[in-house]
Amino acid sequence: MTRALVPAALFFLLGCSLQGTVDASLREAKEIFAIARPDVDISDARAELWLESTDLVKADAESGGGLTFFAVGTILKEVAPTLIELGILESSSLVDLDALAGFRVDAIQAVTIPAKGVYYIKPANAEDVGIAVHELSHIASRRLNYWDLRKTSLAPGKLLDPAWTDLDAVLALWALEEGTAEATEWAGAAAYWKQRRPVDMSLGNYAKGPVTLRQADGRTISVPPGEWGLLEEYPEPLRRLLGFVYGSSQETVKTRFEPGDSLEAAIRKSWSAFTYATAEILQPEAPPKPSAIAESMRSGRAELPVGVKGATRVGAYLVRDFLVHRARLDGATGSALARRLQDDMLLRWDDRRALWILKWADAPASAEFSLAYSKTCPGRKVVNEGNLLLISAGTIEDESAAARTLLGN
Ligand SMILES: [Zn+2]
Repeated sequence: MTRALVPAALFFLLGCSLQGTVDASLREAKEIFAIARPDVDISDARAELWLESTDLVKADAESGGGLTFFAVGTILKEVAPTLIELGILESSSLVDLDALAGFRVDAIQAVTIPAKGVYYIKPANAEDVGIAVHELSHIASRRLNYWDLRKTSLAPGKLLDPAWTDLDAVLALWALEEGTAEATEWAGAAAYWKQRRPVDMSLGNYAKGPVTLRQADGRTISVPPGEWGLLEEYPEPLRRLLGFVYGSSQETVKTRFEPGDSLEAAIRKSWSAFTYATAEILQPEAPPKPSAIAESMRSGRAELPVGVKGATRVGAYLVRDFLVHRARLDGATGSALARRLQDDMLLRWDDRRALWILKWADAPASAEFSLAYSKTCPGRKVVNEGNLLLISAGTIEDESAAARTLLGN
């Protein structure tokens, strides 16, 4: 063997042995998954080492795409300029959202292409059984058709078109999907370790990073919620968003759990009545009604004002985030007010004009938000009409008429 070939051969051997480790983790993860969710067959799922040369964007596109990190990033990037124009997000957010749209490969530990039944895992996580269980859950969701991507669309026949996608529905869907994966991972790990070996389950503060389960034989296995550990790498407000998506969402599954239920039954219940609204993730015990405005737009019944080139729902999560981090309300007050938002729609025109229609539970809630908004974002036009609030950027001819057109009255 020539000297030049030695490093290449070593690299090859290292790659082979790491793939062996990935396969071993996958086998163990399948055992854990089968204990947590015995009704779902993912026995043919595969795992591959995620090398620098692996083109995941291409692999995702070839599988027909779906709701992956890539899709969320693209939608966020499309909508962010309007959210910044209206002051809902701070102006530095555009850079941050670029980071998500550009897919921070360095801060992601594994990625699943559910349609292909395969997940890709970074060499550093080759031994990580917890991440593997989490990724298997994403494959399971696809097989069970638990969610309906059509409910994220705001125009007939337009699926995942960034201009006509309901951001609130996408964030809610993303959150519940990750919550399902996290619940699977935790329930599975707990049951598995209890059954197999005595372990030290001192979990510590798992929000901060991977949890190490120490086994009786001294071996340690990290069971982290897959993407938590590297949250620090993200700037605000993305970090808060990821905290919401990966952290708060397990509660929705837990809340649907009734005594005697299997984990699968709780997951099925969570999905079958899901409202595709972040308000439900924020307050799973009192889910909102699904957005009536979104439904009328999706079905083609809604009439749009002339020249509208795109629409999205801002929703409770971003309203709460605005109230707490921009308008500086305390967390409890911000959450309580955000929960009184019943429905909303943000319409966009080509020339940066925008109209945000908010329907509140009552006139006092509308007035309270109006006050907080006007103080934080002076210079935008705010029209109060009972429980309706109309906020605009640029000159909209007659906001009330435009809103009535959309609301059909
Ligand atoms: Zn995940």
